[in-house]
Amino acid sequence: MPGIVIAGAQWGDEGKGKVTDLLAERASVIVRYQGGNNAGHTIVRGNDEFKFNLIPSGILHSEKKSVIGNGVVLDPRMLLGEIDGLRRRGVDVANLRISANAHLIMPYHVLLDTAGEAKLGKLSIGTTRRGIGPCYADKASRLGIRVQDLLDEKILRKKIKAAVEVKQQALRELSVQRRKLRKDADRTQDEPPDPRIDLHAMTEEYVSYGHRLEPYIADTARLCWDALDAGETVIFEGAQATMLDLDHGTYPFVTSSNPIAGAACVGAGVGPTDITEVWGIAKAYTTRVGAGPFPTELDDDIGRRLQDRGHEFGTTTGRQRRCGWMDLVALRYAARLNAMSSLVITKLDVLSGIDPIKAAVRYRSSEGAVFNEFPYHQSIVHSATPEYEELPGFEMGIEDVRSESDLPSEARDYLRFIEDFVGVPVRLVGVGPDRDQVVWIGEPAAAQAA
Ligand code: GDP
Repeated sequence: MPGIVIAGAQWGDEGKGKVTDLLAERASVIVRYQGGNNAGHTIVRGNDEFKFNLIPSGILHSEKKSVIGNGVVLDPRMLLGEIDGLRRRGVDVANLRISANAHLIMPYHVLLDTAGEAKLGKLSIGTTRRGIGPCYADKASRLGIRVQDLLDEKILRKKIKAAVEVKQQALRELSVQRRKLRKDADRTQDEPPDPRIDLHAMTEEYVSYGHRLEPYIADTARLCWDALDAGETVIFEGAQATMLDLDHGTYPFVTSSNPIAGAACVGAGVGPTDITEVWGIAKAYTTRVGAGPFPTELDDDIGRRLQDRGHEFGTTTGRQRRCGWMDLVALRYAARLNAMSSLVITKLDVLSGIDPIKAAVRYRSSEGAVFNEFPYHQSIVHSATPEYEELPGFEMGIEDVRSESDLPSEARDYLRFIEDFVGVPVRLVGVGPDRDQVVWIGEPAAAQAA
């Protein structure tokens, strides 16, 4: 009964969507276990490009169940938009299932997220301002509103009222800010409430979402148990990545949930022994969106070249991704933290023509101390200078390569170097955006499942 976790091994955007889409061939259920519509997966199939924010990448396999697990926070308006968009493109979404225990992003979460980031100014985290952090905060404060609440108007109204009451102060500050912005001093007395946080309007709006989402709402943990107990494969798909993990990433420049493999159990409702494989996904170099430390970042021609050739712009926000060399110190940390059993290296094609290729193998602190392992202290990560191993690059384009032996020997040496350093076998290599542009190292996973 294989349970396979697919987790990002760097700072996100590693190409998890494509790997999930490929491995989904051997699964009957694909579950997203955390995050919200701040994630973005892109899957290219021939001339078709699909972008997902919330729906698991498995949705393109219409005969398989695609599950939004309890660990996800979801904005119903965005989700319905995504469902409608897929339907318009002829994708059958009848097998989508949404956990009744997942939490809902409410309009006030979005307002508070935006205001919070604006208030932090230069210290802002770089959130997508979609209300995800405030929604998780409400979940922990027991003020959250869950998907199942959509199905009972009375309860929904009560819960929204209770949540909004607690937020009055913060929301009042927001409306003062708004008024200031509008320089509308004369109307400070009787300003109508922001329609987005009007209790009645909000309840009506969410009830209508409930009507539309009801067919998809289910006991999704049970659905996973049934599949696992029947010996079927379940894929647990993470969003964001290890170095953005709330507990183990570069806090506070992290996401507000836990993308690491261990969180798949909590976010889907299965036990640790249900997980039999952990696939970590890393690019052949490193990228990061938003603020926060990034030791191997390049602010030079190579960095710009990686950005151009790798099309390093976010799926969700269009933000430019910061680019740099492969960071093996961070990758080895991610490998252990996730107890990875297999590694996927994507975007190897982007490195062709770059010679030499560099990979960070240790950090040096501003005081000169050497760190062979990822430092636990944030100040050291911020000031760390990476020390690199240089490897010969390869000139040849590899977009059309489909077998390991056809890869240039320098590319194979680079992969072996990564694998030896990290201690996890590289099983799959990406050589282009299309789902066919991959090279299996050894047996393809689908064949092994048979
Ligand atoms: P995810 O959130 O981890 O699924 O990653 P994204 O979908 O945000 O970003 C990955 C991007 O890289 C997408 O545009 C993919 O189409 C693209 N991609 C994935 N694998 C490869 C690869 O091997 N080579 C190239 N050039 N692009 C790839």
